[in-house]
Amino acid sequence: MKNFILLSLLLISPVLMGQSSFTFLGDVVAPGSKRHWTIPISSTQDSTVIPITIFHGTKSGPVLGITAGVHGYEYAPIMAGQKLIERINPQELSGTVILVQIANLGSFLGRSPYVNPMDDKNLNRVFPGSADGTITERIAHFISEEVIGRSTHFIDMHSGDAPEDLVAYVGYYQNDNMPEVSKIGKSMAMAAGYDYIIEFRTTDKDYLKEGNLSLYCSAEAFKRGLPAMDFECGRLGIIEPHLIEKITYGVERILIELKMAEGELDASPSQLFFPERAYVSSDFEGIFYPLKKSGDYVSKGMHVGYVTDFFGKHIQEVYAPETGVVLFILGTPPVNRGESLIGIGISSR
Ligand SMILES: [Zn+2]
Repeated sequence: MKNFILLSLLLISPVLMGQSSFTFLGDVVAPGSKRHWTIPISSTQDSTVIPITIFHGTKSGPVLGITAGVHGYEYAPIMAGQKLIERINPQELSGTVILVQIANLGSFLGRSPYVNPMDDKNLNRVFPGSADGTITERIAHFISEEVIGRSTHFIDMHSGDAPEDLVAYVGYYQNDNMPEVSKIGKSMAMAAGYDYIIEFRTTDKDYLKEGNLSLYCSAEAFKRGLPAMDFECGRLGIIEPHLIEKITYGVERILIELKMAEGELDASPSQLFFPERAYVSSDFEGIFYPLKKSGDYVSKGMHVGYVTDFFGKHIQEVYAPETGVVLFILGTPPVNRGESLIGIGISSR
C-alpha cells in the first residue's frame, strides 16, 4: 500500500548507534526521528483518513502499537495522543511507537458516539475487519495488518463514551493457553499505575480459534500473540486535563516498564483486580436517573438508579447485581431498551 501522504519529517538523529531504520508503508523512518502520515482509506461508498505518528528510537527494542479514537467521541485518549507527540522523544527511545492518533475520524468529526456515521458500524466490534468491506471494516483491516501486524505489544485507548460516567481503569487480556503473553500484558497494565485493573479472560470465549472473529481492537492484537491492554479513562465527552494527563503519564510508565524509555517506576499503589464484571441493562426506552457515580462502592441489592417513562412514571428500578465498584453508569438521561445502565467490577464473591 503505497498511496499514503507524507506530511513531515521532523527530526533526524545525528547519532544512529547502529539502529536500523523503520519502514512503514514503503517509507523510511530514520533512527531518532518521528514522522506523521495521513493514510487514506476508501470503500465504494465512503472515504476517510487515519492520522498516524511513528517514533523510531536510536536503540532497538519493542514495537509498541497504540490506538486512540477507535471511538471518536472518547476525547481523553485522543487528547493524550496529541500530548504524546511531544512527550515521546525518539532520541531517547529504545524501539518504536506506532501511534494511531484518531482511528475513527468519521466518528470524531461527526461527533458520533459509538459508531462511524458513514456506515453506522462500531469500529470496536468489527475486528479484524475486511479489505473489501464498508469503510469501518476497512479501517479495522488496515489497523490489523499495518499497525497490530507490525507491533510486538499493543495498547488500545478508550474512555467512557458520550453518555458514560466512567471511573479510570485499565484492562489486559488473559488466556491460560498464553501464560507468557498474558503475564506481560498484566505487567503493562500494572505499570500504568491505575487503581483498578480488569482482566479480560478469554479462556472460555474460544475466540483464539481460527475463523472466530476478535471483534475488539486489542482482542485482535492478543489473538495474534501480542501482550494487549486497554486504557479506559475519561468520560461523558468532557475534557478533564487531569484525566488526559493520567493517560499520557500511564503510557510513559508503560514505556519504562518495557525498557523503551529510561526511568524508575515507583512501586504501584495498592491495585484492585476485577476478574469479573456485572451489568444491568434497561428493559425499556425512557429516561434514566442514576443514584450513584462512577467509582462508588456499592453492595449487592443497593438501589443505584431508575428508569421512568416520558411522563415521570417509574418503570424500572435498578439495583446493584453484585458488590463492587461502579466502573461506569449511564450519566445522561436518554436510554434505549437493552442498553447497559451500570457496570460493576467484582473483586471477589
Ligand atoms: Zn471506546
